[in-house]
Amino acid sequence: MRPFSVGAMLAATILCAPALASTCFGSSASGRIEGAVALPLAGANFAAYSELGRKLGRTYVHAQVRDVVLGAYSALSRSTPDVQYVYGETGLRTGGPMPPHRTHENGTSVDFMVPVRGRDRKPTPLPRIAHNHYGYDLEFDDAGKLADLHIDFAAIAAHLAQLDLAARRRGLGIARVILAPEYIPRVLATPAGQRLKSLPFMKTRPWVRHDEHYHVDFAVTCAT
Ligand SMILES: [Zn+2]
Repeated sequence: MRPFSVGAMLAATILCAPALASTCFGSSASGRIEGAVALPLAGANFAAYSELGRKLGRTYVHAQVRDVVLGAYSALSRSTPDVQYVYGETGLRTGGPMPPHRTHENGTSVDFMVPVRGRDRKPTPLPRIAHNHYGYDLEFDDAGKLADLHIDFAAIAAHLAQLDLAARRRGLGIARVILAPEYIPRVLATPAGQRLKSLPFMKTRPWVRHDEHYHVDFAVTCAT
């Protein structure tokens, strides 16, 4: 029997270590979190809205929410590999208020920037620079158009369907989806929209128009 090397022992220790757990407290409107994890900066078919925002610690989530978000992106990379998704702000490392958001306090909220297509109808990255607050200041019209860009409602529907599936597979759910009310029928009218009829879209008009991003609250059991 060959003696274990330190490296092998270290690797075995890491492999056997339990996955880091997160504990959320309270609600997305008033809460906090322990053991939150940052979403990765980018993957095969997704990227953060802003490298700076991530460095400033504004992309932390509950570990189970991270698994759902990445699981959905992984499925989408196989079904619609040409679409590039962008996620927005999520929460702070220990939660609590994160202005200007009114929620995002306990690691269960995620903003997703809308996927867009250009004049040639091909997927194109959402323009996001400091000047437009990394995409948050973009203003799309009621049909989802802005200059040469138009919102890819089919890609939003496919994304929400995969998030719902990934959440339910992990024993979680989706507690609320916020999107500009005028866009909801357009999302539901796409092929994947048929699978979204039971999703809890917020019916009332939100405090800010959700045209450049859609907000998802995941149903995670949190401590009080
Ligand atoms: Zn939000």
